[in-house]
Amino acid sequence: MYKKLFIPGPTHVVDEILEAMAMPMIGHRDTLYSDLHGEVVGKLKKFLHTDGHIYLSTSSSTGMMEGSIRNLVNKKVLMTDCGAFSKRWAEIAELNGKDIEVIKVEMGQAITPEMVDEYLSKGGFEAVCITHNETSTGVMNPIKEIGTLVKEKYPDVMVLVDAVSSMAGTDIKVDEWGLDVVLAGTQKAFALPPGLCVVTVSDRALERSASVENKGYYFNFEVLEKKAVKNQTPATPAISLVNALNVQMDRIFAEGPENRFQRHLDMAEHVRSWTRKNFALYSDENYLSPTVTNVHNTREIDVVALNKALAERGAMISNGYGALKGKCFRIAHMGDLQLADLQWLTDQIDDILGL
Ligand SMILES: *Cc1c(COP(=O)(O)O)cnc(C)c1O
Repeated sequence: MYKKLFIPGPTHVVDEILEAMAMPMIGHRDTLYSDLHGEVVGKLKKFLHTDGHIYLSTSSSTGMMEGSIRNLVNKKVLMTDCGAFSKRWAEIAELNGKDIEVIKVEMGQAITPEMVDEYLSKGGFEAVCITHNETSTGVMNPIKEIGTLVKEKYPDVMVLVDAVSSMAGTDIKVDEWGLDVVLAGTQKAFALPPGLCVVTVSDRALERSASVENKGYYFNFEVLEKKAVKNQTPATPAISLVNALNVQMDRIFAEGPENRFQRHLDMAEHVRSWTRKNFALYSDENYLSPTVTNVHNTREIDVVALNKALAERGAMISNGYGALKGKCFRIAHMGDLQLADLQWLTDQIDDILGL
């Protein structure tokens, strides 16, 4: 039986999007494709408040996490580790032979502008990588403040942002906040099936990439740019997903981006108050994520058993990530889920646990 997904990716996909995936196939060098590509990119630029470049990468987000490092870092990069995904990015940089320094905080804590300032003031960094929404802990880092700080104080340092589980769930003002690269896969708050990654690239990042060696081919910004100006991609794109994204952008504008972001906050607020009443919030209350809540399992319930019972009722949540397995569990509230879905979910959990 299919379950409604309350996990932080892939997320619940509505029928209209599933139907958009079932379009007849078109050729990727046909004008039908370039028209579609151009339309999607135009809508994304408006949605993300950017006049920069946008590439559609047929890959999961991890591919572009690697690609962005390879495009913008010759030697040294500042990484920020506040959980599993930000840690993965540091590992990616290291495996690509980059010289990394890592700001590390405990799981559940945020990366602050002061920490970034302290490290960057040592000099020698070409870029800083920040995970906007650390999905493993339910923390949203202050990228507006960090981006603005770096832009003003360290104008040569590129700001790379993993917005995988925040983009389309909260507003991101790419240009105004000074973000050079912002990337996100489609299976989280965009609520599409997995397989496509959206990435914004600033003019100066594209220029910088020209001076970086060994960028490879698949994620090479210069290679992508050459085709992007013709509304194409160098390799065959995930056409069905691009079509679904186009439909989803229309749905987002029909709902209204502000209403969409407010809906995410309303769902988050419901889950947070349920959590405060029955368990406890694990992460720093000043940086709670609008898209996923990390519940501290203070009652020491059996999370695996809870998920089994939920499965019988047609729902699925996530265990704690890595070291937090069993100690926490996560409820995602992003994409096309509605407040009523979350109310239904917490009612089911109350009933199962006898709360
Ligand atoms: C899910 C996630 C990723 C990894 O995305 P993939 O599409 O699985 O590669 C990276 N970063 C964050 C913050 C995520 O939530």
